[in-house]
Amino acid sequence: MVEGLPASGVPAAEVLAEVRRLRAADRPTHGGQLFAYVYDPAVPGLDELAHSAYALSAQVNGLDPTAFPSLLAMENALVGAAASVLGGGPGSSAPEVVGSVTGGGTESLMLAVKTARDARADVGAPRLVVPVTAHAAFAKAAHYLGVALDLVPVSPKTLRPDPADVAAAIGSSTVLVACSAPSYAHGVVDPVAAIAEIAAAAGVRCHVDACFGGWTLPYLRRLGVEVPPFDFSVPGVTSISVDLHKYAYTPKGVSVLLHRDAGLRRAQYFAFAEWPGYTMVNPVISSTRSGGPIAGAFATLRHIGDAGYLELARTTLAAVRGLAEEVAGVDGLRLLAEPEATVVCFTSEDPALDLFVLVDELTVRGWHTQPQMAYGDLPSSVHLTVTAAVAPRVADFGVDLRAAVVAARAAGPVRLPAELLALAGALTPEQLTPELVAGMAAGLGVGGAGGSAGDSAAAEDGAVSSAPLPERTAMINTLLNAAPVRLRERLLVEFLSLLQRPSY
Ligand SMILES: *Cc1c(COP(=O)(O)O)cnc(C)c1O
Repeated sequence: MVEGLPASGVPAAEVLAEVRRLRAADRPTHGGQLFAYVYDPAVPGLDELAHSAYALSAQVNGLDPTAFPSLLAMENALVGAAASVLGGGPGSSAPEVVGSVTGGGTESLMLAVKTARDARADVGAPRLVVPVTAHAAFAKAAHYLGVALDLVPVSPKTLRPDPADVAAAIGSSTVLVACSAPSYAHGVVDPVAAIAEIAAAAGVRCHVDACFGGWTLPYLRRLGVEVPPFDFSVPGVTSISVDLHKYAYTPKGVSVLLHRDAGLRRAQYFAFAEWPGYTMVNPVISSTRSGGPIAGAFATLRHIGDAGYLELARTTLAAVRGLAEEVAGVDGLRLLAEPEATVVCFTSEDPALDLFVLVDELTVRGWHTQPQMAYGDLPSSVHLTVTAAVAPRVADFGVDLRAAVVAARAAGPVRLPAELLALAGALTPEQLTPELVAGMAAGLGVGGAGGSAGDSAAAEDGAVSSAPLPERTAMINTLLNAAPVRLRERLLVEFLSLLQRPSY
């Protein structure tokens, strides 16, 4: 008897019912009420198309494109479209652009950093320069790849770095300078042209992280929005990442990393012949990878097409402007930045209006927003990733936002016990014992005894159930917000580790 496996196979219909039951606990992926994690264009039939294409290629292995030329063809088509959207390809100033399809933005950024590092064998202790607003995946890349990270501050007003500070951060060991178009947290486009020029003058590569906005900024520009140059039309830009699983609205697991030319890409590849098996040659981190996401993405791009993406950008822009107006109309809330892409980000300027309580009040009303912690000079904030599906919901959001604000004011700010707050402010990560973490988690309603088979009332005999998670998160967020960043990281690791326990 193997624990955790049914003794004999469960019929397909029952298994699917089990998945459906588990999925019911998830946040809604469609309907424009979830402002992070998912990107919904609300195009009728698109899901069905993407799923069919996905299923057709799910068993195909991207390990060897010569065995599965369908995948090579579809990848080259995705790269061609991405290059063309981002100022490269035939007739552009960057006709030699090449690229690779990766599994996501993080993988694209890790590869951009790896490529820059490995292209500079002359540098013993490589360094990476990014604004503090750059995506956390750069820190992950630096950590995994043994590259030191140099963070450049941003102005609390513009949320952009001063190019002079970027210049000052570049040294002889800098292998890569990166910036965002736009940043995930605030949706702000960095001064790419100035930064790329500085990098070029220093002989350093410059990566533009357009994972979030690479597929919207060019369309927004065509709609008349002022978008500064950020793509391959900027001479010093050597690579760009764009996530197709964001605003190209493809299934998850598809991003593209572009280089200005094949020479700049060379160090991205890994080949190894010194073993008795097949000679391995990989463009990306994964070796075996499913053709499903690639075929799903291929179908999505072809079905929506250029005119379709322009219309989706138009719809999204209307939603962004509508949401920003609703937020700006609430006393005590302030937009952290004037929206210039597809993010609406706001903070509270009224101590009686607790942002984390507001987040919970919105959740109760069905709106799932993303709280962001205070960092340096920047206050805590609420992030909304806006997609086309939000457009018909803007007025509803406004009504519920005003009601949530009234409720949050009535509830008042979170008051954590003074000892707990003091503890959060003074603890070092090393002082966190498993007992202390378990105690905190229990007090905050995280993890706990649930999660194993049969514990939940909803679960049938032997069925898998989902772990209970707290609906109200203001206490947790307040505690995390009070903790220094290293402790915040450790607490989240410990909490997640409590949730990630095998079920039998
Ligand atoms: C989402 C995002 C990433 C990371 O992408 P994943 O697909 O989540 O790995 C990197 N940079 C920016 C700007 C992003 O928005």
